[in-house]
Amino acid sequence: MLRQLIDNILDMLLPRRCLRCGKILGVAGYLCDKCAEEINFITPPYCQKCGNPLHEENIRLCAGCSGGQKRFYRLARSAMTYDDSDKNLIIAFKFFDHTENASLLAAMLKVAGKDIFDAGVDLLIPVPLHYTRLIKRRYNQSSLLADKLSKMVNVPVENFALIRHRKTRPQVEFSGRARVINVKNAFSVKHPEKIKGKRVVLIDDVMTTGSTMKESAQALRKAGAVSVDVLTVARVL
Ligand SMILES: [Zn+2]
Ligand SMILES: [Zn+2]
Repeated sequence: MLRQLIDNILDMLLPRRCLRCGKILGVAGYLCDKCAEEINFITPPYCQKCGNPLHEENIRLCAGCSGGQKRFYRLARSAMTYDDSDKNLIIAFKFFDHTENASLLAAMLKVAGKDIFDAGVDLLIPVPLHYTRLIKRRYNQSSLLADKLSKMVNVPVENFALIRHRKTRPQVEFSGRARVINVKNAFSVKHPEKIKGKRVVLIDDVMTTGSTMKESAQALRKAGAVSVDVLTVARVL
């Protein structure tokens, strides 16, 4: 069902290879049957606030969210869980210029972000890279995702308001508390006038501990954003 939705969003004109395993596809599409089956999409039931999978039907919120645990966002959603079998889809996109994956991943964001778009949003903001890393990698994977998604959901992207003014090490090199420290005060808003009064959606490929998102969201709220939602392709559970 999810795959159908995703295929419907994407154009179906060209014969392709499966973007996950490389197998030539007999029919038009983006994923082979095996891969579509294997991806761990986050499907209901999940927490209506944080988007984490729930193990019981008929409850709306996870224990943390219903216990009044403070969240830095309004809603958070991810299309799939980040695990060994699905890593490749994102890693290829991020580091090996497989930017054709951007359409597939953006379509997944559109499906996963339905509640967020229903709640009403004004701007998509990709999590920025530090400019030195942008030069090295030549593209910001989050901007690429946001640009594709923007056309699918008809919400503008703002690429220059939020900046990563401090160079940070990749979050994967750290764990736990060190991740929080690594990105502490790394983000700021350069053009608050573009943010003030806006409902903003932060876009990224993977959410690990959420520290990066939290720091970004705080900078945006400080600049006057009315709400900040979080939308990522994958999340580490
Ligand atoms: Zn495949
Ligand atoms: Zn929750």
